[in-house]
Amino acid sequence: MRTVIYPGSFDPLTNGHLDVIQRAARLFDRVVVAVARNESKQPLFSPAERKTLIEQSTTDLPNVSVDLFEGLLVEYVEQQSGHAVIRGLRALSDFENEFQMALMNRQLNEHIETLFMMPRASYSFLSSHLVKEISGLGGDVSPFVTPEVKEALAAKLGQACVN
Ligand code: ADP
Repeated sequence: MRTVIYPGSFDPLTNGHLDVIQRAARLFDRVVVAVARNESKQPLFSPAERKTLIEQSTTDLPNVSVDLFEGLLVEYVEQQSGHAVIRGLRALSDFENEFQMALMNRQLNEHIETLFMMPRASYSFLSSHLVKEISGLGGDVSPFVTPEVKEALAAKLGQACVN
């Protein structure tokens, strides 16, 4: 049973995250999407809300589960009997930070590998931050998020759902 952990803030889940989850679900027996609780940034959605949105958006993927985690990622991966961590790579700008984090995690536990996956090219510009900004300004985010996330964004940002 090969288990991979996909950690992140997911505030909220975008189609870019979902693309990575779908690709990972084809490669591994079990994918655990791990929503980080220990946020230094002020998230729009609570950890529980973020978890529920991912669950609602991945009902068609039976080997994907969603969990909350806090503390050291490498410890969480061990608790889950995970073999690897998946991170998404968009543009070159992601690289530096991800490279540092991957090597630091290897220093902390050399048995846990970090794998990078690229989303479909059309999602490579997508970020949770941009999606929140567009939604907050009344733009239509349907091409970027699932219907569940779109509705949650509209509710949270106090708008009528566009389209
Ligand atoms: P974090 O705050 O931990 O970076 P995010 O929720 O922003 O969490 O992202 C989680 C992971 O998903 C990161 O590896 C990030 O690079 C990746 N990611 C974010 N947006 C996309 C996207 N559009 N396509 C592919 N990967 C993405």
